[in-house]
Amino acid sequence: MVLTFKMRELIDELKNIKLAIFDLDGVIYRGDTLITNSDEIIKELKESSIKVVYNSNNSTATRQKYVERLKKFGIECEIADFYTSASITAAEITKIKKNANIYVIGERGLREELQSLGHKIITHPINFEEIDFVIVGLDRDFKYQNLALAQKCILEGNAQFYATNSDSTLPVARGLMPGAGVMVNALITCTGKEPVRIYGKPEPFGIKMILSDYQISAEKTCIFGDRLNTDILAGNRAEIITVAVLTGVTTKEMIEDLKKQKSYSNNLDKNMIPNVVINILDDIYKK
Ligand SMILES: [Mg+2]
Repeated sequence: MVLTFKMRELIDELKNIKLAIFDLDGVIYRGDTLITNSDEIIKELKESSIKVVYNSNNSTATRQKYVERLKKFGIECEIADFYTSASITAAEITKIKKNANIYVIGERGLREELQSLGHKIITHPINFEEIDFVIVGLDRDFKYQNLALAQKCILEGNAQFYATNSDSTLPVARGLMPGAGVMVNALITCTGKEPVRIYGKPEPFGIKMILSDYQISAEKTCIFGDRLNTDILAGNRAEIITVAVLTGVTTKEMIEDLKKQKSYSNNLDKNMIPNVVINILDDIYKK
């Protein structure tokens, strides 16, 4: 089936696209519910020879879990299609040091991505000097004692502080829960140090990694995301085409308000304006 775009602006913007990057929550599904026809859209894009990959800031699950999740929704995919803030962080940390000793505040997804690249997770550091990195991601079992250990690795040892992402909130089926930024800020507060790097969106590391892996140029790549301050900002920073989808946390009014600003005090607000806005993924094709 030939992909045809419903909306004029999409016809103009997306006709040369070879690679489509999708945020997951709020774009393809919401909680445990598939957003109408997003499975069909993915299929259509692939049939039109457009590469499809997924980029999520959620570091808690392994990429294998995401594969199982999308397959349950009827979307064919494999591990290599996923770039999570955990897998991006693991790949970037490996460029800095191989076989590092790491203290993690985070969940299984982050620990397993780091271990799979040869790093050692030290769960009960005794000699703080031996820890190379403290890496912080979303931890839904966050404990004071773990924060204290991370603090000691940094202040009493020489560990460098890195983070997967700094999202303030985590969207769940019924509203919002605290995001990884809460854990990151706890460690900033008790160490007085900022992370050396935060690898998830809105930083463009993940998107640049995807472009490099697929050897496709930025102008032939687009991102579909529901958050302006992560997905769209990261996309604009990486200079790919940005499409905001209104099935998650962003409303049309929020985008209109940003566009209405006469001047921008910094590039941040300006960079959160998407190139294209669609109500739902289903808007991008006609049957
Ligand atoms: Mg999202």
